[in-house]
Amino acid sequence: MSSKGQQKVKLAYQTAKDKKVGETANCPSCGTEFVKSNYQQAFCKSKVGTICKDKYWNRVTPTKRNNTTRISPASAMYMANRIDLDAPNIVGGSGKISGYTSEGYRIMDGVAYDEFDEPVYNVDMDDDRHPFDLED
Ligand SMILES: [Zn+2]
Repeated sequence: MSSKGQQKVKLAYQTAKDKKVGETANCPSCGTEFVKSNYQQAFCKSKVGTICKDKYWNRVTPTKRNNTTRISPASAMYMANRIDLDAPNIVGGSGKISGYTSEGYRIMDGVAYDEFDEPVYNVDMDDDRHPFDLED
């Protein structure tokens, strides 16, 4: 399923991921050089929002293609299981991703985090019900 282009961009992603904080990395999406400010950071901050991240995941994950605005519960679950290791590195956080926002932000503990582990906004829980508090 994966083309040579995908292999290349995945390698670029891994290379960026493997860089240490303070080292210079290249954004796997647009090639922009950036200094890592967070060990999980793999994309530059030069583009607005999550463009580089979205572009990357759309390229390497065929199931997400043409699906940038809506993520089905099934694929959200799949992604959460797959990249719980990518949960926001927040002191005191649960370390578990409970889902994704329509923008692709990771939801942890009711807060949406961007790819730099920065909280973006509180996710609206359905009144008293906590739809993401399913697991014990
Ligand atoms: Zn970029």
